[in-house]
Amino acid sequence: MSTTPSSPTPTSPEASHARSIVFLGRERSPIFVTESTRLPTTLAPGQVLVLVELATICGWDVQTLSGTLLGGTPSRGTTADDHPCVLGHEGCGVVVRSHREGVSVGDRVTWGICAPCGTCLPCSLHLNNKCTSVVKLGQTLVSSVALFGTYSTHLLCLPNTPIVALPPDLTPTLAAPINCALATMVNALSKLPPTPTPGQPGASVALVQGAGLMGVYCLALLKERGFRKVFCVDLSRTRLARAAEFGAVALHPDNEEELIQTDSVDVVFEVCGNKQNAVEVARSGQFLRVAVNPQL
Ligand SMILES: [Zn+2]
Ligand SMILES: [Zn+2]
Repeated sequence: MSTTPSSPTPTSPEASHARSIVFLGRERSPIFVTESTRLPTTLAPGQVLVLVELATICGWDVQTLSGTLLGGTPSRGTTADDHPCVLGHEGCGVVVRSHREGVSVGDRVTWGICAPCGTCLPCSLHLNNKCTSVVKLGQTLVSSVALFGTYSTHLLCLPNTPIVALPPDLTPTLAAPINCALATMVNALSKLPPTPTPGQPGASVALVQGAGLMGVYCLALLKERGFRKVFCVDLSRTRLARAAEFGAVALHPDNEEELIQTDSVDVVFEVCGNKQNAVEVARSGQFLRVAVNPQL
């Protein structure tokens, strides 16, 4: 009996095609289709082809699907002019082809969400996401740039897509959200003044409002930075228990005796969309809203 060799699956390093979930538009039927795309056999200088290990769902993707993303998305609308795209920007993967110095086949990597031009005024100010010709991962027409979303077996990083090597022992579950959620929080904390040494004046008490992934990243970073006390408030006791594992003083609104006093914290991070409560407890310190839909 003879056997026919099976062709490589889309997730094998030898695959000839990628499989992608293509978003057609929120009011289309079906909303998604699965498409097969031939992988490039040669890459342009700077391009890197990645086999996606894991992609996570960001609030940005959810807002695209719900139609609430400010600034729109290429796939929104209801007319025949809708343009499909591959959603997803968070993730990690393994390099399967590279035409970039310093990036090799087999490297485990994550990537930047924006591919900036590098020459316009916002780019000169290091505001890559405000680049006048930015190409955003997960928000780009498939007719414009192929394989530029992470809800796909493969991602084709553009020449200006930042690529960061990952430690080999960092699991995909831990690695996938760091290029968006963790990066956002690291940037937000970079706006704070230096944390004072014990006994010296300065910001050392913080409140994190919201104990989702962003909130947990935030409080963990604050503790690592030396904040003496980090309160965390959320309606979910399950989430609060997780926050406590990372060093937070967990507060639930139902437990009034636990609630902190007005004018009692130096820095407030509001990451869930309830601005009012956060402002009331802040003394004359800083108030930062991070990754919250401004419509909330
Ligand atoms: Zn994201
Ligand atoms: Zn630019």
